[in-house]
Amino acid sequence: MTASPHVVVIGAGTLGMCTALNLVEQGARVTVLEAQSIASGSSGRSVGVVGSQLTDPFEIMLRVHSLRRFRQWEGEGLRFNHIGYLRLARTPAQMALFARSVEIQAEAGLRSRLIRAGELRDLVLHINPDGLEGGLFGPDNGFLDPHEMCNFLADIVRAKGGAICQYRKLLGVKRRPGGYTLETNGDAVNCDVVVNAGGAWAPQVAALFGQRLHIWPERHEAVVIHLDEPLGYTMPMVMDLVNGEGSGLNFRHEKPGELIAEIHKVKSIAPEDPDNYNDLCEEQSKVDLAELLLERVPDLPGARLGRGWAGLYPVTADHRPFVGPINASEPALVTAAGAGGYGIQLAPVIGQIAADWVLHGTPVSVPGSRSLAPSAERNVPGH
Ligand SMILES: Cc1cc2nc3c(=O)[nH]c(=O)nc-3n(C[C@H](O)[C@H](O)[C@H](O)COP(=O)(O)OP(=O)(O)OC[C@H]3O[C@@H](n4cnc5c(N)ncnc54)[C@H](O)[C@@H]3O)c2cc1C
Repeated sequence: MTASPHVVVIGAGTLGMCTALNLVEQGARVTVLEAQSIASGSSGRSVGVVGSQLTDPFEIMLRVHSLRRFRQWEGEGLRFNHIGYLRLARTPAQMALFARSVEIQAEAGLRSRLIRAGELRDLVLHINPDGLEGGLFGPDNGFLDPHEMCNFLADIVRAKGGAICQYRKLLGVKRRPGGYTLETNGDAVNCDVVVNAGGAWAPQVAALFGQRLHIWPERHEAVVIHLDEPLGYTMPMVMDLVNGEGSGLNFRHEKPGELIAEIHKVKSIAPEDPDNYNDLCEEQSKVDLAELLLERVPDLPGARLGRGWAGLYPVTADHRPFVGPINASEPALVTAAGAGGYGIQLAPVIGQIAADWVLHGTPVSVPGSRSLAPSAERNVPGH
């Protein structure tokens, strides 16, 4: 490897842009190839929530790294809406897990607290607490606009000498000594290393290298909720799902008089074709969402469902992202993909780990993250 390798990043979603940034910051020459426009894939279809209210210590630790970067970027001008994040608990066992999460987060310098059932309305005046034991609340979590995030990062990458080529699709790969020649719909590009940040398309990109990557494009929908009048408080992100248990309903403030809601669990298990799927919200999904909302927040003033859309979660078999080479025989192809429903909040740390793989041949800055490599044990069909 040369001291300053030329790295081509495939994909200008959150994972590609965070990887590109980490690489240019460390002196690599970086070219991003994006088949469409910046954030045109899953990133631009997400609801942009960044949170740390989880129970698994490794998952929390990954977000500690990400949040550190988000704070830095916020200081540099990226808008981040600190509306808070409330995860609901239905059982005492879940509350016990939340109590441990509060301790883990506190050790890492993150603020969070347990909310008892009787206190839920202090945070969310309109919530119906029936069947709830309480919640876990992080006041500093929130949401951002992923389009804005990707373009913000793109500006820094360009300012540091990186190139971002939009409407430039990777079509073929030729191996040459010490690297690759990449065939595109424009000029061919020679490089030393490729990072596959192709999201739901990452398996297609891997196939151009003769590699097999198991990422499942799973369709998810989100809907805008209009209210007759603004709430007298800011609705935090509210999530009814703990380690797969719960309805999956989630909703949050978008702007005064407007919320965004989603069902994190999906009924369909068929993989979607990322080049040809229904990117609108289905009517039945709106009915399902309305029923869940009526049960959990029955008295929202004049609530009615508005515009809906669908996008893809790039999902792996164990629901953890792939970061690293697929195969020891091809160390110059590094994958940064498969972040499922967490690819906005995990992008900064994934970009950091991917850059470690490129520049050091192994993760050096995030303990335990070698376990995220798409090893033969992990890179298996899901569902
Ligand atoms: C409805 C919905 C809500 C979500 N909400 C959240 C949330 O609140 N918080 C959160 O953290 N995550 C959320 N997610 C998940 C998040 O959006 C994804 O995990 C994340 O965007 C994945 O980013 P990515 O960079 O891997 O992929 P993408 O954003 O899809 O980027 C991949 C890019 O690669 C490009 N590409 C593909 N093939 C090629 C090629 N051959 N040559 C060049 N370019 C190519 C594509 O055009 C695309 O732009 C949500 C997702 C959906 C659908």
